[in-house]
Amino acid sequence: MNEAAQDTLYDLRHSTAHLMAQAVSELYPGVKFAIGPPIEDGFYYDLEFSSPLKEEDLAQIESKMREIAGRNLPIVREEKERSEARAFVEALDQPYKVALIDDLPEGEVISFYRQGDWIDLCRGPHVASTGRLKHFKLLHIAGAYWRGSEKNKMLTRIYGTAWSTKQELYDYLKRLEEAKLRDHRKLGKELGLFVFASEAIGSGIPLFLPKGEMLRHTMESYVREVQTRYGYKHVWTGHLVREDLYKKSGHFENYADVMFPPMRDEEAGINYRLKPMNCPSHMTLFNTQYHSYRDLPLRYAEFATLYRYEKTGELNGLTRVRALTQDDCHIFCTEAQIESEFALALKLIREVLTRYGFENYRVRLSLRGEEPGGKYVADDEKWTKATDALRSAMIANDVEFFEAPGEAAFYGPKADFLAKDALGREWQISTIQVDFIQPARLGCKYMDEESKERTPVVLHRAVTGTTERFLGVLIEQYAGAFPFWLAPQQIALIPITDKHYEYANAVCVKLNAAGFRAEVDARNEKMGRRIREAEMQKIPVMLILGDKDIESETVSVRRRTEGDLGAMSLEDAIALFTKWRDA
Ligand SMILES: [Zn+2]
Ligand SMILES: [Zn+2]
Repeated sequence: MNEAAQDTLYDLRHSTAHLMAQAVSELYPGVKFAIGPPIEDGFYYDLEFSSPLKEEDLAQIESKMREIAGRNLPIVREEKERSEARAFVEALDQPYKVALIDDLPEGEVISFYRQGDWIDLCRGPHVASTGRLKHFKLLHIAGAYWRGSEKNKMLTRIYGTAWSTKQELYDYLKRLEEAKLRDHRKLGKELGLFVFASEAIGSGIPLFLPKGEMLRHTMESYVREVQTRYGYKHVWTGHLVREDLYKKSGHFENYADVMFPPMRDEEAGINYRLKPMNCPSHMTLFNTQYHSYRDLPLRYAEFATLYRYEKTGELNGLTRVRALTQDDCHIFCTEAQIESEFALALKLIREVLTRYGFENYRVRLSLRGEEPGGKYVADDEKWTKATDALRSAMIANDVEFFEAPGEAAFYGPKADFLAKDALGREWQISTIQVDFIQPARLGCKYMDEESKERTPVVLHRAVTGTTERFLGVLIEQYAGAFPFWLAPQQIALIPITDKHYEYANAVCVKLNAAGFRAEVDARNEKMGRRIREAEMQKIPVMLILGDKDIESETVSVRRRTEGDLGAMSLEDAIALFTKWRDA
């Protein structure tokens, strides 16, 4: 039997992190070691070097790793008393390890793993020997603060990957290369979609160029159209909210560090906040109207730009920003309606994900943990009922799901959609959360059949999450080549020479009038160059127009995905484009 196949990826990656640490210790004596965990697809180790490490140095570290793996050193567990363990790492002059030991709860066994001369504080487990580590590669370096805090020292983080077989490693590196080509930050620039002007505007606030804004608009119009079809009502609740509302809702307490600091209205003696979420605003809006049980379920939806004070170190292209536009919705319903409303939201989410080409997804059902008196509020009966409702809706709708106990929000269970993109990467996109708490805190009420006041349950629901992040995901999903219905420019008209310009213009006006996003490229450039640029801009359709087209009143259609389709009348072309748009 293949020995390596018996090792879990977790153990392989964790052991490769140790192997790398050993290689570093041999090449760079005096390095201080912090933490080195396995992660999805690989591992990293945080290290403090006395002089900065360069990306080019990784090759040398990697060949040292291969040498140590070749020594086939057994990896052996050793246990030490706390005081002994502390004295041991102190003697090695490893201050981060001392701090890690001090973090461990009293009474816990302190274990080390030894391989040859190298020994590391570690809980384990590991593979049996360094000889088991064969299919790995160091990838890149990054800065990382000790304990993730900007107040602490910046360490050097080396990332690597490790797999059970040569083929798996090869496939993974291939995927990485493809992902680099699709990086939305790179494509966003090349396609002229968005920019960051941090010096002038501030960090984490993307600015959208006309093509980027056209994408936003198309994405939001689409979701709005679907939501309207599913009986949602769209509302609008602004950007500023009195701070008092967040004290009442509980966000002030639980959410303070992601809110921007208050704005003071001295005259009125009031503090305002930029809205970090919509829930309290939608519930306040609900409260301004009278509701009977006949009005429920009531579904308030809003495309709201929210502001969150994300740490600068965590900002990342469009995937982590400070100004984010949620396709947020709050469904006010009775307890008995949870299951049917959840099922309806599931159906809506599936429709939208399918439209964007996410055929593969699964749902993580986050449930209450076991700990008594923990963070979870509301009574047992409600939790059990809601959890059962969510489960049975997913089973009835044939949705693949797995359960994550202890991962629920404090106010109720939730379902998160994890969708696989074209490269097989999983993104958390849609979410549905059941809330028993906020509606009561904010005094939401409806009259039941017996004219008794009752508190509704609220489902918080987002389909695409935020427009910004989802656009980032879509750019990578499509590698920038958006489908016809979504492409910011759908058609490029390319007159062969100057004398064909007038005809191209006339065709363009008709296409625009028929609702297509078409533009004439009338630049004084060679035709070949203009065609190449339209290809690089990934415009789905080109119409190349010359003498023949003018004579016979036709257009010559070239589709990005299909190549030349020949000449046809404008009417036929419009019928074809309409079919592609509505497909
Ligand atoms: Zn370890
Ligand atoms: Zn909400």
